[in-house]
Amino acid sequence: MAGTRTFSIIKPDATERNLTGAINKVIEEGGLRIVAQRRIQMTQAQAERFYDIHKERPFFGELVEFMTSAPVVVQVLEGENAVVRYRDVMGATNPEEAADGTIRKLFAKSIGENSAHGSDSDDNAALEIAQFFSEADIVG
Ligand code: ATP
Ligand code: MG
Repeated sequence: MAGTRTFSIIKPDATERNLTGAINKVIEEGGLRIVAQRRIQMTQAQAERFYDIHKERPFFGELVEFMTSAPVVVQVLEGENAVVRYRDVMGATNPEEAADGTIRKLFAKSIGENSAHGSDSDDNAALEIAQFFSEADIVG
């Protein structure tokens, strides 16, 4: 494997606006390789499991509703220090605070509808990848 892996989701606000390719271009130009990718309609159960760590937060219901509102693209990204690198490529959670050239600065609509998800640690990356992909789906 070239470097490490992270898990990415292109969120409904982006797939609805036909931005999958534009976001993939920013990912690739940011030095990450898309080594697995699938477009899915997330079920409520999948979204609730995925965001279980946020279940006590006031926006949890809204977040699950949003993530199931349209198709998403789930991805495995590979590269040097992939988790940290992809968080840099995505930019801050709130697009108003995101740096120029980042996915969220370029495309996000709001703090909730913020176009992309990226894992926040290597351990969570492994868990999140395993929720959506088997090892045979990932070709580096
Ligand atoms: P992600 O986990 O999606 O990569 P993040 O790690 O930058 O984003 P988290 O704090 O983990 O941010 O929040 C998870 C997601 O919940 C955010 O990406 C956003 O879609 C949503 N969210 C976070 N804070 C708010 C908020 N105050 N209001 C509405 N939605 C929010
Ligand atoms: Mg997070």
